Amino acid sequence: MKPITWSILLQSRGAIKLGGNPDMDGVARVAFENGMEEAIIIGKDHTGFCMHPTRFGVMHPSLKINLTKGLAEALHKYGIRAIAYVNFGMDGEAGRRHRDWLQEKSPGQPALVTPDHYADLCVFSPYLKEYMLPVVKEILLDCGADGIFFDTMSAFFYCACPVCRAAFKKAFDKELPLADNPEDPAWDLYGPWQYERMCNCLQTVYQHIRDWKPGASVLFNHLGGPAWPFPLPEVVEGMISCDPPAFFPWVSMYASYQSSLPTTGDVFIERFARGWGDRNANTTLTMRYKSAAIFAHRQRFCIGDRIHSDWRLGPGTTEALKTIQAVWRQFNRALPDELLNAPDFLLLHPEAYRLGPARKAFQKPGDKRQANGWLAALGGYRLLMDCGRSFMTLPEMALTRQLQPGRVLIIPAAEYVKPETDALIDGFVTGGGTVLLVERVPRLDDGSLPKWCGFSTVEEDSAGPRVGAVYLPDLGTCRRGKDDERPLLRSNVCKLESAGAEAVFYGYPQEHAEFLHKTPYASFYMASDSTPMDTPLLTCFRYGRGKVWFLNCAMFTDYTDGALPVYKHWMENLLRRIHPRADFELVSPGGDVEIVSYRHPRKRETVHVLLNHGGRRTSLRHLFTSEQVIAPQPAYPVTLRIRSKADLHITVDGKPVEAVRRGASVHVPIVMDSLWKFVKCTEKS
Ligand SMILES: [Zn+2]
Repeated sequence: MKPITWSILLQSRGAIKLGGNPDMDGVARVAFENGMEEAIIIGKDHTGFCMHPTRFGVMHPSLKINLTKGLAEALHKYGIRAIAYVNFGMDGEAGRRHRDWLQEKSPGQPALVTPDHYADLCVFSPYLKEYMLPVVKEILLDCGADGIFFDTMSAFFYCACPVCRAAFKKAFDKELPLADNPEDPAWDLYGPWQYERMCNCLQTVYQHIRDWKPGASVLFNHLGGPAWPFPLPEVVEGMISCDPPAFFPWVSMYASYQSSLPTTGDVFIERFARGWGDRNANTTLTMRYKSAAIFAHRQRFCIGDRIHSDWRLGPGTTEALKTIQAVWRQFNRALPDELLNAPDFLLLHPEAYRLGPARKAFQKPGDKRQANGWLAALGGYRLLMDCGRSFMTLPEMALTRQLQPGRVLIIPAAEYVKPETDALIDGFVTGGGTVLLVERVPRLDDGSLPKWCGFSTVEEDSAGPRVGAVYLPDLGTCRRGKDDERPLLRSNVCKLESAGAEAVFYGYPQEHAEFLHKTPYASFYMASDSTPMDTPLLTCFRYGRGKVWFLNCAMFTDYTDGALPVYKHWMENLLRRIHPRADFELVSPGGDVEIVSYRHPRKRETVHVLLNHGGRRTSLRHLFTSEQVIAPQPAYPVTLRIRSKADLHITVDGKPVEAVRRGASVHVPIVMDSLWKFVKCTEKS
């Protein structure tokens, strides 16, 4: 497993005194003592200040020394590479001096410029070549940095500056669409065009840096990660870095996503507590828990720390790194690099969440797709985890690698899949694979439905002013007797016309559903009707040698808000039906325990990390809460079911345990009384 890495910097302001009492060697020594091979230091910050004497940029006004070079040299003495942080599209100093470089949200209206801090700049203006790239060259050649970590942030957002308007006009002989006219048909041209410009811009940057310093590392924060889940120059084959919000289940979800790609990625946690990357307020348990969520997926933890403005470490950092490093050592021992990921389910994170159909919604201001996509992704992650499933979340660009026989592909709320994905899925199902579509049936480039879905028409319900209701039929989940009731899901359903898909079961509408759905002021749900809907809730289509299921409701999206145990129970039963030959299942009354499974490439051996996420059931809809583990998490009794004909020798944290054979499975009882457990199962010869 790659050693931990560290981002040791701050975002300055002109009024803050910097570098008054530097201890470069102290910083570098701590990095060395914690096994680091590289660290991120400051090059150019949000405000736009450089920390070195510069001919092209603006050096911080209080600086007397070259902080970037000083820290790079100190790190080099310990054999550690120094990667310089450079904010790519945000630079207050440049923006205040060159108003013509500012991004514009509408013609003549700057997107963001403040008196002494941020400004959003247009990277298609002369800012890139006259300012940013020359500064980068200084950082690499004069300061000796070994690479650049670009913070992408606002860099490729929509911009209506004169340069961008002229470029659009030149490309299409049409005016650039404006944010206040979302119906302008020119938006269909804008998304793909902006995507191409972005690719060209990235190529230019990579090319310059490689010319100046062959072997330099270049990272663009977020690109290729869950927020930008699509191919770009040096995505997929390069390293991907992304910074999730520092709370459940974002950290796990990002780490799982990264594990689907060929190169280990950074999970870069900034908001690790209330302060910006300030570890001092984090409890030791919190640090252990969140590090474990990254290491369970064998990804690199990039610890977003802040340096004291004197340019020395704050007192909490050394202890924090020691704590995290100790967790890393345990996971590094338990999960050798040769192990292969062994998920039973693949949870797709579709490109359409960010790009819309055929990239037509890319960077369109006010587009809600990404926000809605997060809801399906988060709810899906939590639900599969609660169901005790061994799964991996992944982008379309990882499917070639990960779509293997025996794995079930789940596609939640995808409005579109690109031609390559369509072809891959077609081949996968034809060859005997299983796909589960949830909430929507994706469309193709020309708006048609994929052949493998089994429908001739799918009509999403956008009639009502609010989300409708569907009562779930009994899957062994309804309480019996007087308290007998069906669980309510807040969801619309699609109208379907089959082209071979067969109804498996039906949901129930609420009473007076038609009337209530169209009433703008209805504010509550009625009881379940006794007659089922005439549109199926679950269908199954046999295609080639495989099957495509469609769960016609917003199960994942609703689970983001209301993670009721009855949904977990209902989905557990459904997933057993859809993937009866799954290799692993963690049976856990409360959910909350994540299982990450690995298989040895040669020995008949599997290794599983069980991670205790504690008993939280909050809505995941709202971002940027803070979260701490302040006492040991509740102990959960769980059972690990392993499908195996052979008898198994099983250890939990190195100690042998007794397992029980039940039919085709071996059952391992485990009490989750620690943050994590390592379970190793070896076939007895
Ligand atoms: Zn522009």
